[in-house]
Amino acid sequence: MADSFDTIVIGGGPGGYVAAIRAAQLGRKVAVVERDKAGGRCLNYACIPAKTILRTAEIYAEAKGSADLGVVAKDVSIDWDALGKRRAAVSDSLSSGVKMLWDKNKIPTIEGEASLTPEGNVKVGDGVYEAGSVILATGSVALPIPGVEFGGRIVDTWGAWSLPELPKKIAVVGAGASGSEIASAYARFGTEVILIEMLDQILPAEDKDIAKIVERVFKKQGIEISTGAPVENVEAGKSSVKFTYGDKSAEVDYLCIAGGRVADTGPLGLREAGVELEENGKIKVDPYGQTTNPKVFAIGDLVNRKALAHKASEEGVVAVEKAAGVETHPVDQELMVGATFTHPQVASVGLTEAAAKEAGHEVKIGKQKIAGEGAGTVYDDKDGLVKLVIDAKYGEVLGAHIVGNRACDMIAELVATMALEGGYQELSRIVHPHPTVSEAVLDAARAVDGWAIHA
Ligand SMILES: Cc1cc2nc3c(=O)[nH]c(=O)nc-3n(C[C@H](O)[C@H](O)[C@H](O)COP(=O)(O)OP(=O)(O)OC[C@H]3O[C@@H](n4cnc5c(N)ncnc54)[C@H](O)[C@@H]3O)c2cc1C
Repeated sequence: MADSFDTIVIGGGPGGYVAAIRAAQLGRKVAVVERDKAGGRCLNYACIPAKTILRTAEIYAEAKGSADLGVVAKDVSIDWDALGKRRAAVSDSLSSGVKMLWDKNKIPTIEGEASLTPEGNVKVGDGVYEAGSVILATGSVALPIPGVEFGGRIVDTWGAWSLPELPKKIAVVGAGASGSEIASAYARFGTEVILIEMLDQILPAEDKDIAKIVERVFKKQGIEISTGAPVENVEAGKSSVKFTYGDKSAEVDYLCIAGGRVADTGPLGLREAGVELEENGKIKVDPYGQTTNPKVFAIGDLVNRKALAHKASEEGVVAVEKAAGVETHPVDQELMVGATFTHPQVASVGLTEAAAKEAGHEVKIGKQKIAGEGAGTVYDDKDGLVKLVIDAKYGEVLGAHIVGNRACDMIAELVATMALEGGYQELSRIVHPHPTVSEAVLDAARAVDGWAIHA
């Protein structure tokens, strides 16, 4: 044996790096194995690069439209190289931050690709490390659509966020959070964008009312939206990609497939170690992340329904606490908050109106336009809406849905309300600071009983 640890974490993304720190806090002797960069895909190739570029898109769009705010910016333009450098610098800085946290917590990193031995220990290169418990946190990889391969001008989401040039025309297949964010950024940079979704609405996981607003704003931003038809007949050339969608065809500089991802379990040796998979390729776990091999836990994109960084981190905390035998409780997957950083942003938690009805709830709805609040006008939140889905019997908040410029920050109080089992009655009496867009939450709660003040 090369060395032995109480816990070995495989993968240093938001699931793995947080799990390792929590294990160290609990006094465990812990190591992380990472074959690439600290911070995983989230910090280096996904969430953070996307948000860095979206931030520039926001500033660019605001600078161009700021004359009526009294800010006259002339010759506003995009410096693609500078933006690429900043994107890389932000990721590098955060990745170094993760390494510093590991150092601070005296967590060694083992560089290389890890697999499990049949005994549930960890093999990296020629070394085998004995582990009291193993946390699998190896994330997920992009999947192309059937019959199409990534390469050249057919790119995955990372390819779309790291293009060598600002494209004139791009098509994005898949209008979930990642695809919609790409469309939203490029449209604001002036690129012609086609956003194609096979299902019947963009942001298919979101409440219909919210998705409709985003669709309207996207169209105003010049994004062509196609729903209900797949992309077919893809022909990749040297300088463009041709394809058909429904009864239309297009030729674009780049085709981005943001359709789906699959758990990255390939090299792990799961079967030999007695770790079973679900039918969809994710790892079978109990609510604490424990796999069918009791010594092995799995977290993040490897497990459960959603693929989100904050989900991965929290599952990491719970898994190491369980492995360490300290008191813990499972992550409430029903309260897993979604955040999409388009313009406008979208955030949601709990059930959509349709899902609540389908689950047999009698529902009451409270809606408030953010523009109705003073802050909506001050901060130019023209299209924002807060929608609450309430159980008619006791007033429990079943779901909260927000579209607006700061939706991803606003949703946190609704997650807290739901986690603390608060009802709309409590929300409608909680004072919110003025002037803030959060006042729309207060009025949405009041709107359930028809007394929103700013409606
Ligand atoms: C474009 C895009 C934007 C996104 N934006 C957001 C967002 O804004 N908010 C959000 O919450 N989520 C977002 N996500 C989802 C988020 O990126 C994932 O849910 C998150 O990265 C999952 O974390 P993880 O720790 O499970 O795995 P990852 O971040 O994928 O990290 C896994 C790590 O394991 C390493 N690894 C894999 N196999 C091995 C092995 N055998 N040995 C050693 N190391 C290994 C990899 O190198 C990698 O570093 C986005 C995803 C995409 C694609």
